[in-house]
Amino acid sequence: KKIKLNNSKAEIPIPNSNSNSNFGNKCKLSIQEQKRKLPVFQNRNKLLDLIKRHQTLIILGETGCGKTTQIPQYIYSARLQNNGRIAVTQPRRVAAISIATRVSQEIGNGAGIGDTVGYLVRFEEVTSKNTKILYLTDGMLLREAIVDNLLMQYTVIILDEAHERTIHTDVLFGIVKNAQKVRDERKLTPLKVIIMSATMDVDHFSKYFECKVVYLEGRTYPVNIFYTKAPQDDYQTACVATFFKIHRQAPADEDVLIFLTGQEEIEAVVHQIRLLAKDPEVNGPPVRVYPLYASQPSSQQICVFQSVPENTRKVIVSTNVAETSITISGVKHVIDSGMVKVRSYHPTTGLDALKVQRISQEQAWQRTGRAGRVSEGNCYRIYTKFQFECLQKSTMPEIERCNLSTVVLQLLSLEIHAAHFDFMDKPPKESVASAFEQLNMLGAIEDVDSGKLTELGTQMALFPLDPRFSKILLSASNYGCLEEALTIVAILSGESIFLNPPAKRDQVQALRQKFYSAYGDHIMLLNAFREYTNVSQNNRRSWCHEHYINIRNITYAREVRAQLADICRKCQIPASSCGSNMDQVRKCLLTGLFTNVAELHRDRSYITLDKRQIVSIHPSSCIHGQKPPYILFTEVVQTSKCYLRSLTTINVEWLLEIVPDYVRIRNIKCVD
Ligand code: ADP
Ligand code: MG
Repeated sequence: KKIKLNNSKAEIPIPNSNSNSNFGNKCKLSIQEQKRKLPVFQNRNKLLDLIKRHQTLIILGETGCGKTTQIPQYIYSARLQNNGRIAVTQPRRVAAISIATRVSQEIGNGAGIGDTVGYLVRFEEVTSKNTKILYLTDGMLLREAIVDNLLMQYTVIILDEAHERTIHTDVLFGIVKNAQKVRDERKLTPLKVIIMSATMDVDHFSKYFECKVVYLEGRTYPVNIFYTKAPQDDYQTACVATFFKIHRQAPADEDVLIFLTGQEEIEAVVHQIRLLAKDPEVNGPPVRVYPLYASQPSSQQICVFQSVPENTRKVIVSTNVAETSITISGVKHVIDSGMVKVRSYHPTTGLDALKVQRISQEQAWQRTGRAGRVSEGNCYRIYTKFQFECLQKSTMPEIERCNLSTVVLQLLSLEIHAAHFDFMDKPPKESVASAFEQLNMLGAIEDVDSGKLTELGTQMALFPLDPRFSKILLSASNYGCLEEALTIVAILSGESIFLNPPAKRDQVQALRQKFYSAYGDHIMLLNAFREYTNVSQNNRRSWCHEHYINIRNITYAREVRAQLADICRKCQIPASSCGSNMDQVRKCLLTGLFTNVAELHRDRSYITLDKRQIVSIHPSSCIHGQKPPYILFTEVVQTSKCYLRSLTTINVEWLLEIVPDYVRIRNIKCVD
């Protein structure tokens, strides 16, 4: 289906582009020349001197000035890491992988990624004994701290993107500060700590770390900002329309970067732009469109950095990963939808939801800045000036808005009680309390006050999963369904395995009928995965193609599954399969997700049993349109309404059998 561009309400003036821009040779510089041109290069000696003299240092510098890619290399070539390893944390896996790959090319010692430079993200490790610079997600460094709280593997730890204030980085602040102190006291190999950031509350950080701050001067060009005249309900269409306005007028060598919220939306926009650009009625050069979001395969991520043929326009459609973590050169036009997808938890409603919401002013400025890297640029904000002024000044740290049970469990396995941890900003008391309550109900701790881990809790902490999902795996042997539980949990750990091209909706639905289960989405995933594993290796690609299965996501799920199975073996959970007895799987899911149950309400909506929230079934669910009396859900998506996604029907009496204490405390009626 075509979108009519002229009907869009987005009215954005497009200035006459300066066709003399010096973009022609943008990708012709050698890697060494590119490195020397980065602003951080001027400061190389000064930085090295400061890093030598200080045990802890905060480095502030404009996005794209070369902090993440260059500073670890400077340290490495000056041998400041003393034969140890340099760790550089990133909040997102996509950034860790793409930056590590780039740095390994820059070092250019003939060895590939995984040798001197490696990366470590959840379910994927590319390192070796030789690895000296390791890019890893903050979540992975935190997991390493569980095994060794002094992080002795490393002599330098760089906590990058500190301004993002992810939960993991926030916890690492305390862990790393403590490790440094203890290593000093015990006269062990000293640890250097470097905090890097694009924007941040410097006083706050330097007070916490009691250390020096270095400012790196960036080099940026002015950016013209354009607002829409009226608010846009459909920001996705408005982004596409704005793109084509630019496309018709701007010279082909001016790249465009569009900020949207998530995979589905990004893939849809990529598709629309590709289609429309081919339309003979649309004037403009040929386009190359690249999506950029978490959990893409590395090969695809690297593509966004490649230069495109002469007279071709490059367009990148990205999540907020291109805001500060990944810089793509050559961007001259930024289109900012003004939206971002975040996870947030409400202790009062008990729901942890993925929510598309407005960005903060700080984020809007970061996005704008992406247009002024090479020369003067333009930023098109798909919101009005007034809407901009109403945005929050800065983004709230994740620790103040997310479910803390994973972090509380991880801290407990380090024998730290979250209430006594040296947080830079303390999380809300209620969130800590509800995390303890949840862990207690999952059987991970002996009681809420002491917070002493049970044997189950110790095992739960070994899985790189939300405690509710580790609980499902650890209770699977009681239901004889470990094989099935592994499959479901592994698939839920990645992006959707089902492709849903809107143009082929009916066809896809008919095909998918054979995986369908009246028990809901989890069993449907299981059915699809079972069939996939029955197909011979050689035919899997064509099978996926035929069945509209995302081959990369299902392959990823298979790898994740193998790793989870490995941890289960270490925990000595016996292998088992329940064959076609799906009740066992459904009960097993309930052992972890018992707080995620909703009952059918008389007005045909649902209401959660835990905190009595009104919710609805997400249209993507295979049991959408049916009204089972009780459903277990995996995820909440909040748009105009609260939607439940990934569902399984359950019998409410099972709750009594599985979590009698919970039923009693919450006073849940367990008869139909
Ligand atoms: P900062 O951390 O200060 O934001 P970076 O070190 O991430 O800056 O980026 C420095 C430069 O390296 C940028 O100009 C960016 O475009 C470039 N760069 C990063 N990754 C790649 C890559 N994979 N290919 C080409 N250039 C890259
Ligand atoms: Mg960076």
